[in-house]
Amino acid sequence: IESARKEREELYRILRSAADFFYDQLHHSPEGRIAREYIARRGLPAEVVETERMGFAPQSWDSLSRHLANLGYDVEPGIGAGLLARSTGKDRVYDRFRNRLIFPIRDEGGRIVAFGGRSLSADLKDEPKYLNSPETAVYHKGRLLYQLARAREACRQVRQTVLVEGYMDLLAFHARGFFRVVATLGTALTPHQVRILSRMSDEVVMAYDGDEAGDKAMLRGLPLFLQENVAVSCVRFPDGMDPDDFLRRDGLEGFEKLLRSRQELGAYAVKRILDGWDGSASARLKIAAELRPIFDAVRQPLLKSEYLRLAADRLCVSEEVLNQQLRHDRRTPE
Ligand code: ATP
Ligand code: MN
Ligand code: MN
Ligand code: MN
Repeated sequence: IESARKEREELYRILRSAADFFYDQLHHSPEGRIAREYIARRGLPAEVVETERMGFAPQSWDSLSRHLANLGYDVEPGIGAGLLARSTGKDRVYDRFRNRLIFPIRDEGGRIVAFGGRSLSADLKDEPKYLNSPETAVYHKGRLLYQLARAREACRQVRQTVLVEGYMDLLAFHARGFFRVVATLGTALTPHQVRILSRMSDEVVMAYDGDEAGDKAMLRGLPLFLQENVAVSCVRFPDGMDPDDFLRRDGLEGFEKLLRSRQELGAYAVKRILDGWDGSASARLKIAAELRPIFDAVRQPLLKSEYLRLAADRLCVSEEVLNQQLRHDRRTPE
């Protein structure tokens, strides 16, 4: 146990050194100019870049690994921290993050535990746009949220948390003085994260990208919130915009207007499913089946009765009949 703790301390130390290196590369290397220009183009204020201690990972395969070796680190902690990787077969070690804008990811205590990296190459065909640290002894992506510590503090006044998909979305909020916001770390929302959110706030507002993928991801999150009894609502951004796009167009006032018109997520989901009904009697069964997971997950009788009323109205059946159908479906799983 003592040695595991020592190992973690070593990871924190090397992650700090890496963050300092990335920071230095962003500000003081000639190559870092690409990243500095990118930051300017994206409209990220210098203040945010400084507070976050954002960085730049150079193009080369070994700039970080050489730097860490010069500082006296062994290769193993570099690999353990997710900074370096060993090429398969060969005994060569290379930098995981190359030619990327670097977002340090901190745990609840403010320590750097991982990095997110956005590619700076013009052609995203043969590399992922975002690359994140792998799971390590100090980083469990399903147990952490990006900017959790800052959001928890901000939520002390208003116990409402906004949940977004991306690093850029989140920092666009910070750039405008809005801090009650967290992001998932490139993965689907987990029950653990929902529990964290439920402790720090009374309501979660999902503000995912205004595209089909964002919409689907929000709906996938619904059962988690319903099961944990967490009040959850959503806002929808127009024209496929994500929060970053929207804030740049309409500012924080625009977002606050959207926020005031937020919809409870379950009601939104029910309406969306009902929008898919073609009006035929035969498709009613299909719609009922799509509704079932929501009704299975909901705990609050008031919410349940609201969903039932919404759905029954639109399906032109009585609430009682719809309720019976949902129970019937439950007894006869396919
Ligand atoms: P940008 O505005 O920089 O183009 P974005 O934040 O709008 O990026 P999206 O494509 O909407 O990016 O993705 C949202 C989030 O999902 C990202 O911030 C990142 O955390 C994660 N993500 C996106 N693409 C990948 C990927 N290829 N691998 C891992 N995570 C990804
Ligand atoms: Mn997206
Ligand atoms: Mn996006
Ligand atoms: Mn974006």
